[in-house]
Order: sequence, then C-alpha cells, then structure tokens
Amino acid sequence: MSEPVERIKTLIIGSGPAGYTAAIYAARADLKPVVYTGMEPGGQLTTTTEVDNFPGYPEGVDGPTMMVQLQQQAERFGTEVRVGMVTAVEFSDENGGIHKITVDDSKQIEAETVIISTGASAKYLNTPSEQRLRGGGVSACAVCDGFFYKGQEVAIVGGGDTAAEEASYLANICKKVTMLVRKDHMRASKAMQHRVNSLDNIEIRYNTEVDEVLGDQVVEGLRMVNNQTGEKEEIAITGLFIAIGHKPNTDIFKGQLEMDETGYIITRGKSTKTNKPGVFASGDVQDKEYRQAVTAAGTGCMAALDAERYLALVESKETVDTE
Ligand code: NDP
Repeated sequence: MSEPVERIKTLIIGSGPAGYTAAIYAARADLKPVVYTGMEPGGQLTTTTEVDNFPGYPEGVDGPTMMVQLQQQAERFGTEVRVGMVTAVEFSDENGGIHKITVDDSKQIEAETVIISTGASAKYLNTPSEQRLRGGGVSACAVCDGFFYKGQEVAIVGGGDTAAEEASYLANICKKVTMLVRKDHMRASKAMQHRVNSLDNIEIRYNTEVDEVLGDQVVEGLRMVNNQTGEKEEIAITGLFIAIGHKPNTDIFKGQLEMDETGYIITRGKSTKTNKPGVFASGDVQDKEYRQAVTAAGTGCMAALDAERYLALVESKETVDTE
C-alpha cells in the first residue's frame, strides 16, 4: 500500500544558515516547519574550517559545529529535520494553493508554504590535483579561508568580479597574490579591475591557466601554463583560491520559478517572495552578490516572516499581495 500524502504547513528545502534560520523563526511562529537537508546537510559551511566572521562567536567557530548548533536551535523550537532530497516540485499558481513536493523520488508531500534555501555550489576546475588538495590549501572562498594564509604567497584563478574582489581581499592579508586570468582581459567591472591593478602585491597573469597544483598533502606550489605559447612556469604558493563562479542549486525549479540568466531565483523587491504565491527563496539560491553566512541567515529570517504573513492572509481570506 502506498504511503498517505503528508500535509505540512511550512516545508524548508535546504539546511544551510538560510534554511535553519528560516526554521528557527517558522518554528517559533508555530508553522511546524519540516526541513529536508539535501545532499550536503549543513550546506557549504560544513566544507570550511574556521568561521571567524559570524557575529556572536568572538573566538570563531568551525563550520560543521556552527551548523550542528543551528540545527539544534531550530529543533529546540520543534523543527523536524529530515535527511532527504527533494527531487521534484509542482508549485501551485493559486493564492492559498497547495504545493506538491516529491522527496527521494518516492515520498509525496503537500505544503502550504515552501521556503527554498538550496544554496549554491562553487565551481571548481575539476582537475585531479585540484580535487585532491581541496581542504589542503585549495579553497573556493577567500573571505572564509584567506586568514589562514596571512603573510604567505597565494594564487587565485578567475577574472570576474568575484576573483577581483577576492584578490583585493587576499592582498590585504597575504604577502603576494598571483591572479590567473585565462583570457587577455578580465570580465570584472572597470572599477574592480582598477582596484586589483592598483595593489602592488597582486600580479596578474593573462592568458594563463592552472596546469597542476603541486603538493602531496597540502599545496606547496602551482604550475601555470600560458595558453597562447604553451610555456609552463612553477611558483611556490601555500594557498590556491578558485573564483570562477557559482552555480545556484535550482535545477528542480526550472520552468516553475522566475530565474535570472544564470539560474538564480528572482525575488520580489526587498522580500523573499517568488513568482508563486506561498513559495519563498532565501540564501545563496537568490543572492549572487553577498553570499555570506550572515546574509543568508538574514534572508532565512525574512522568508519565515513572509511565510507567516502569507498564511495569516490566506487564513483571513484577504487578497494576498504577491508583488
Ligand atoms: P563570472 O561568471 O562573472 O566570472 C567567472 C570568471 O571565471 C571569468 O573570468 C571566467 O573567465 C573565469 N572562468 C570560468 N571558468 C574558468 C575555468 N575553467 N578556468 C579559468 N577561468 C575560468 O563569476 P563571478 O563569480 O565573478 O560573478 C558572478 C556574478 O556576480 C557577476 O554578475 C558579477 O558581476 C557579480 N558579482 C558582483 C560583485 C560586486 O558587484 N561587488 C562581487 C561579486 C560578484 P572568462 O571571462 O574567460 O569566461
């Protein structure tokens, strides 16, 4: 016999800082939230070591510990956290409509509100040496990990705004930053290019790509290759930062939610409302610019408040403002 369809008031998809903060607020508002953790319970922060920039942790905290604490805080108020992957959605277009969710390709759920906090994943080069040294000196987040390379020589790959911003950030901390740009020009805005060009300890290498990251357990150097001449060169570095863009985790929502050209969910004005009534988006899945744990947590709070207001309006049978 097939399992009966479960009805949930607020379903939260994703378990990073946005999802758990939404859960804390939703649980306290008695929305009885259920969180589905996804493939990477705890989100991107579980792949970093020390988090030193989240307010309230004067001594810093390691990413996995912080995520366990956020989960415990959400559970303290009655959030149910389930390990599972949302594999399909069918969002209603109606105010007060019921959204149909499939978990792990089998379990069916009906949700009155849905908060999407599925995050984004940093893109990597996906070469064997880079993958082997992830967590051993290869990082995709300068703001998270740059501090560990204080006074040392590092390199960064990418020529967009993120790479330029992270190169300037690293230049403040590190002795020298070598920036590898694969074209003969940067994609970053003129202002950001000006910033990297004005810093003495950033050396920009155009037409240059990673040939191999050197080191056994930790990064010890980098072999670079000029893609015009084929010439190779080795430099000694202790950290390699990959800043070639992020991919929002929105594949299952395609065709149902409004997204920008790179797949980020578009939210209305300053709210977390999507184009479907009762469906909200928070965290990196709708933010390509700030992408910090604290900003994700902030929008998670907003999503829970938006969901609470939406449900109150639906219950009072007033017109729901979806703009
Ligand atoms: P982008 O997609 O803009 O840039 C990615 C960069 O990485 C490009 O230079 C690209 O090169 C390079 N790249 C991609 N794949 C590889 C590869 N395999 N090997 C080497 N290089 C590679 O991503 P960003 O994360 O920089 O920015 C995303 C968006 O966020 C942009 O719209 C940006 O403007 C915005 N943003 C704004 C900020 C701000 O305003 N303060 C800060 C950060 C981001 P190529 O050019 O050759 O394709």
